[in-house]
Amino acid sequence: MHDKCSARSKHSGVQCGNWPMRGGKVCRMHGGASPTARAKARRVLVEREIRARFHDLDSEAITDPFRALQEVAGELVVFKDRLRYLIEEMDGWTGYDDKSMEYGRALVVLYQNALRDTVNGLALIARLNIDERLAVIEEAKAAMVIKAIDAALTDAGIVGPAAEQARAVAGRHLRLVS
Ligand SMILES: [Zn+2]
Repeated sequence: MHDKCSARSKHSGVQCGNWPMRGGKVCRMHGGASPTARAKARRVLVEREIRARFHDLDSEAITDPFRALQEVAGELVVFKDRLRYLIEEMDGWTGYDDKSMEYGRALVVLYQNALRDTVNGLALIARLNIDERLAVIEEAKAAMVIKAIDAALTDAGIVGPAAEQARAVAGRHLRLVS
């Protein structure tokens, strides 16, 4: 249910009993009708409407987070490119009415956020890629060391349980250092 205006009396601390402006937190008396508050309220109402429209969407479990992350990053790139296109379409930013200017400014904010999200997403993917590659390199190194130990054991004529024992010790040491 909707809450009453969140403003409180400075003297008594009692909460204002009026209804807030639609989409806002405070009533007209407490600044709810200011241009900033109105703009914010419009945004809240639009977001509320969008959320209501999507709230019965089915979700599915993510089994491959890396692939899902790549897909999201791909969407982010497309999204920011489209925003940029829309901004470029606002030719010279002159001769527009207030509503169009508000739309333009909102586009720029969205674009900045989309840029930041895209950079973060791509950086995360790059980092995960590096971790994966490092793990592969470490595995390859360990395999090489084991091979060298095997060759040394064979060369020294050490076979059977003694060779197994030596391999097991080497394996434990490699796990400790990796
Ligand atoms: Zn109030």
